[in-house]
Amino acid sequence: MFEQLGLSVPLLKGVEAMGYERPTPIQAQAIPALLEGRDVVGCAQTGTGKTAAFILPTLQSLGSERGIKALVVTPTRELAIQVEAVARDCAKHTHHRTAAVYGGAGYGQQKARLSKRVDLLVATPGRLLDMQGRGDLDLSGVKVLVLDEADRMLDMGFWPDVKRIIDLLPKKRQSLLFSATMSREVLRVIESTLSDPVHVEVGPKAVPVDAVDQVIYPVNSMQKNQLLVEMLRQQRDLDRVLIFARTKHRADRICKVLRRGNIPGAAIHSNRSQPQRQEALAGFKNGRYRVLVATDIVARGIDVDNISHVINYDVPNAPEDYVHRIGRTARAGAGGTAITFFAPEDVLGLREIEQHVGTALRCEDLEGFEYNDRIVPDPERAARRASRSPFAAHARRRASRGRMRRR
Ligand code: AMP
Repeated sequence: MFEQLGLSVPLLKGVEAMGYERPTPIQAQAIPALLEGRDVVGCAQTGTGKTAAFILPTLQSLGSERGIKALVVTPTRELAIQVEAVARDCAKHTHHRTAAVYGGAGYGQQKARLSKRVDLLVATPGRLLDMQGRGDLDLSGVKVLVLDEADRMLDMGFWPDVKRIIDLLPKKRQSLLFSATMSREVLRVIESTLSDPVHVEVGPKAVPVDAVDQVIYPVNSMQKNQLLVEMLRQQRDLDRVLIFARTKHRADRICKVLRRGNIPGAAIHSNRSQPQRQEALAGFKNGRYRVLVATDIVARGIDVDNISHVINYDVPNAPEDYVHRIGRTARAGAGGTAITFFAPEDVLGLREIEQHVGTALRCEDLEGFEYNDRIVPDPERAARRASRSPFAAHARRRASRGRMRRR
């Protein structure tokens, strides 16, 4: 129960208005530690309720003096907009005000917003430094810093900017870092930025394996477009579909194929302008677009409820990306389906994914579809692979390294 976490009455009212009944595991773990004033490292991906986990206690710790007192730094504009929306909802019954600044949108408007009361600011690194450099922003009163999706910020090369931002902040502050993965680089950032942090974690594999129905469709690469269009035509229950493509170019191409097939869809990736991205996302949310085609980087922060299906048009490069992708469906406990197109060249990629999620994925065919040459994975692999949890695989790797060293 949220009441047991130590949150104030105005924040509990906000939580109630948002329709949250019970804290998610990351909220139950992080909120009490943050309310104690501890630095916190949260290992959690989008879809776990991580945003409210850091926003609620942050709002509670803010006093009523003027100026920006909490700063949330995010890698993408979409995530900045989303986090600010959650913050605004959470703060509805408090006197705190929130704002977001990010690139690709009008500078003047954002500057004007900052001239009014802002207690919590959400920002992407570039625009934040730009505004600070021009003297349009004062960070000297920041008491709480949140680095959201730290791994993604590092992947996108934002660390030098983030470091400059940190150097502008008062030394005495509470720092929070959230990341879906804990790479060596992320650990290094934690060491240099946080002080004696409490680690909270929700199992990254819990969401997909338990709640998402995972299926593979073996298909020759040349027939992927045809299969996709045919599948969307035949199966009307694919009503809100997020498709992942390996590159921006492929995302655009898939979108064209869909349009040619009279299937309303839009693409979202980093080459599209901010208004185009917002239009695509809004259209997908309100149902105008049945399909959204995305690349991994941009899709990471997308928070759209009720995504019925995730389709991996291309097998992702890393098994971790597979988990992130399929985590977009089955949000907050609802069911969902992840479909992966499996072409002959994806044999190794599929093996890695199955080892990572600890199970063999079910194979299906689209009824009535005329398949050309393709490889259908050996059904026997199910029995072999099911016993291999990611932890078992890790242990085997360690054991074999040990053996090699001994030789
Ligand atoms: P996040 O991981 O912060 O992106 O949140 C994922 C989704 O879960 C969002 O749509 C939230 O509105 C929703 N959510 C967050 N916390 C809760 C909760 N305690 N109960 C129900 N839904 C929640």
